[in-house]
This record gives sequence, C-alpha cells and structure tokens, in this order.
Amino acid sequence: MARAIIVGAGPNGLTAAARLASEGWEVEVYERAPYIGGAAASSTDIFNNSIVDLGAAGHPFGIVSPAFNALTLEDHGLEWLSAGYQMAHPFEGEPAVLLSKSLTATAEELGADAQAWEKLHAPIVENIDEHIANLLAPILRWPRYPARLAQFGIPSVASASILGKTFFSTERARALLAGSAVHAIASPTQPFTGAFGLLFGALGMRGGWPVAKGGTQSIIDSLSSVIHAYGGKIFTDCNVSDLRELPRAEATILNLTPRQVLQLRGTSLPHHTLWSLSRWKYGTAAFKVDFLLSEPVPWSDPRVGRAGTVHVGGTVAEISRAEKSAASGRMPDKPFVLVCQQFVADPSRGLVLWSYAHVPHGYIERYPGEVREAIIRQIERFAPGFREVIVDTHETSPAGLESWNPNIIGGDIAGGAMTGAQTVFRPKISPKPHRLRSGLYLASSATSPGAGVHGVAGWWAAEEALTDLRNIVMKLKR
Ligand SMILES: Cc1cc2nc3c(=O)[nH]c(=O)nc-3n(C[C@H](O)[C@H](O)[C@H](O)COP(=O)(O)OP(=O)(O)OC[C@H]3O[C@@H](n4cnc5c(N)ncnc54)[C@H](O)[C@@H]3O)c2cc1C
Repeated sequence: MARAIIVGAGPNGLTAAARLASEGWEVEVYERAPYIGGAAASSTDIFNNSIVDLGAAGHPFGIVSPAFNALTLEDHGLEWLSAGYQMAHPFEGEPAVLLSKSLTATAEELGADAQAWEKLHAPIVENIDEHIANLLAPILRWPRYPARLAQFGIPSVASASILGKTFFSTERARALLAGSAVHAIASPTQPFTGAFGLLFGALGMRGGWPVAKGGTQSIIDSLSSVIHAYGGKIFTDCNVSDLRELPRAEATILNLTPRQVLQLRGTSLPHHTLWSLSRWKYGTAAFKVDFLLSEPVPWSDPRVGRAGTVHVGGTVAEISRAEKSAASGRMPDKPFVLVCQQFVADPSRGLVLWSYAHVPHGYIERYPGEVREAIIRQIERFAPGFREVIVDTHETSPAGLESWNPNIIGGDIAGGAMTGAQTVFRPKISPKPHRLRSGLYLASSATSPGAGVHGVAGWWAAEEALTDLRNIVMKLKR
C-alpha cells in the first residue's frame, strides 16, 4: 500500500489527505497546532460559547468546489446556509446595492445598469460549473472548456475599475463589481481584478456566498470524517521542521507557503525550484476584529442587515485609494473592511460580527486600538449607532495571525500576494505547479488556484502524487 504524509491540517492539507485515503493510500497528517483547520478553524472560547470563525467565514468557492463535492462532505455533516442577500454594499445617504442569489434580482437593483449587468454576467452565471472547472485548474493545462475560457478571459484581463467604467454608467454597479474584486486583496485598478469581480459576483448569483452551519470548522470536521472513514490518521501538536524525521512515504505533501518550505530541513529541492520559491512575494495584510453585539448592526438601509457579507468601503475611488495605500505600506484612514454577519444565515452562532480591514503587510499599530477604531468608524458611516451595540471585541493583528498560523506571513491571508504573475502562476510557472520534485508536493493557498476554503490545491497536489506513482509502477512493469 502506498503511504502519504501530509504536513499541515488546513483545508488543502486535509483535502489532499482525504483524496489519497479514498484512493486506498495509507495517510498520516501532522499538524503543529493542538487542533486542525488552519485558517478555516472556529472557536467558542473567545465570546462565551458564541462561535467565532478564526479565519475564513464566507464560502462562495466552498459550495461549488469540485474537490469538496467529490468527497461528498455533505454526507459527513457539512451543511451550507445562505442569508437572504449574499452581499450588500452600503452607501452614505442612499440605499445600499445588494447581490442576490439570482442574476435577475441583482440586476433589478441597478436601474440604468440593469441590462448591462445581466449582459456581462449571464455567460458566466449560466455556465458557472464549466468556468469553475477551467479556473480552478492549473493555468498551463489545456482547459476542459476552452470556449468558455475565452468567454471569461477577454473581459477579465482588465482591472475591475476599467471593466466597471466600460460597462456601467452608475457608481452603484461599479462599486458592486469593485467590492467583489477586492477579495483578491488588490486595488480594483490592477489588471486581472476584473476576473475576481466577475467570478465572485457570478458565484453569489448562482450558488451564493454561504456560511457553514455551526462555523467554518464544520467543513474541516467533515474532511476529517472522510479521512478517518478511510482509515487515515491525524496527529496534532506535531510541528514539522525536518522531513527526515517523518516516516518514509511515496508522497509528502506540504500544506505550507514557499518561505516555510525554504525553512524546512530535508527537502532536497532542485535548484530551479529553490530559485522560484525564493522569489515568492507576500502581500497586503488583514487585521481582524470580531465584535460581540447586544443586537444586530443598525444599518441605515435595513436590507443590509439581511446580507451575509457586507463590503464596507464606499465608492470605487475610496476603495482604490485604501487598497493602494495599504499595498504601499501606509495605513489607510478609511480602510476597506470586509464584514460577515454569519448569524443572519445561522442564528445558532450568537451575535458575532466578523470583520477584517486591509492594512499594510506586517502592520504594527501606531497606538493600541488604532485599526479597531478605523473599522468602527467605517461601519458607523453606514450604520450610525453601531458603537452602542458592541458588547466586546477581539482583535488579531497581522503578527497575531502569523503566530496563530505560520502560513499567514505578515498577515497575508492569501499565502502570497495576488499581484503580477503570482495571480495565476502559483507558486511557479509550470504545468505541474504543485510538484516540488518527485515524491514532494505543495498544497496551499500559495499554489494554484490560490486562496480560499475550497481544497482544490490539495486535490491537485494529490493528483500529482497519484500520477507520479502510476508512472513509477508502469516503468517497473516494463
Ligand atoms: C482572517 C481570514 C479571513 C479569511 N476569509 C476567508 C473567507 O471568508 N473565505 C475563504 O474562502 N477564505 C478565507 N480566508 C482564506 C482561507 O482561510 C485560506 O485561503 C485557507 O485556509 C488556506 O488553506 P490552506 O490549507 O492552504 O492553509 P491554512 O488554512 O493556512 O492551513 C495550514 C496549516 O498548516 C499548519 N502548519 C504550518 N506549519 C506547519 C509545520 N511546520 N508543521 C505542521 N503543521 C504546520 C498550520 O498550523 C495550519 O493548520 C481567510 C483567511 C483568514 C486568515
């Protein structure tokens, strides 16, 4: 029986483990933390039993993930829950704009831009499964649906801001697109951000941006259930610093980012791989603040209170200014803030408002509470009286995120900047980006297709391991 060792029990490490276990491999996962889940873990220790997602909260990619679907996570306890609106983008002094789980309903929000919104998004929304199969695969492979890739690729090469200006006449439609694009943690003026805006929007209008019932941890628990069902083993409190201390295996899969791989002993990496990994760049950080509330947020437009995710950033110009400032190392006065109101879809969790602001890489506050106050001020612009409903707060700085999970280097929650060539070539330019050398693979958000709780990077790393083993067996038979 072939054996696989997985280092790290984040969603990608666990997906790789689940896939190989389901193929009959003997699988062992080693996780440094006392619990599994990485940046997809949840906790009830912070606010008196209310559930806090320590990392990821909303799952537009999780619900459509071909990897999670193939592993039938819903048979292992996972349940997706959606709010009435998938996302809201509030404005000062006028109604918010809302993303619904329907193309027509979303377009109806947009007045003069209704038709343009439908025209731009319909080819993606209507063929979302084919687009997902193309976009979640390593970039240098022949796409499964080439015609669809052409359909998606041409508008998406542009920045979200140019795409918005070209197709829409209103700030409302432009901001709805740009807010989704900023999930890439890049300014909407950057090339390729149009792709993120289109894709996130289309995912919301099709499968939604759901939360996992009981906390993001339940995705992890369902992956762990698959692994155990196939006889796999998971060991926690095991920090791996030297691969030579691990049992021998046909495949070792590292759920790490490039800098950590370079620090690991016993990897025996070829020069060209060392060179690629050493050029890897980390980007803008998240500063996370969770709020325990006495009652829901008093949004000026009450419909925002029925949305799962809220983009707090104002106009496209403001968002672009904030993102550019964070990327160039200056703390923005009005940072872009991502808010998740999980309790709207999942009332069992308690009134916890999850948020993070985009701040400079490794940002250290000028005074305690600086970023928390910036987030509160931003939310108050669209929800006067927010401060009065706050019962307690819990802050995690970029350094705090990194000491909790070393994959979040300098607070970069994407495993490496989503800019330039790194947007698509993760972590190197190769048709087999997950293969570091024969027998050693990388499966993390630093690899294709990038950040998010979807497990697809783990799926592809497992695929590489399966292919290598098949080739070895065939050679031996000849
Ligand atoms: C604050 C925040 C908000 C986010 N929001 C969202 C969201 O809403 N939706 C979404 O889809 N994504 C979101 N993300 C991103 C998402 O969580 C990550 O992209 C995803 O978790 C990456 O998965 P991974 O398996 O590659 O790595 P991780 O989840 O980072 O897991 C890596 C694991 O490896 C372990 N490890 C590291 N070094 C070692 C070692 N030497 N030995 C053993 N174990 C080791 C770590 O402890 C960790 O458990 C967010 C992330 C953060 C931090």
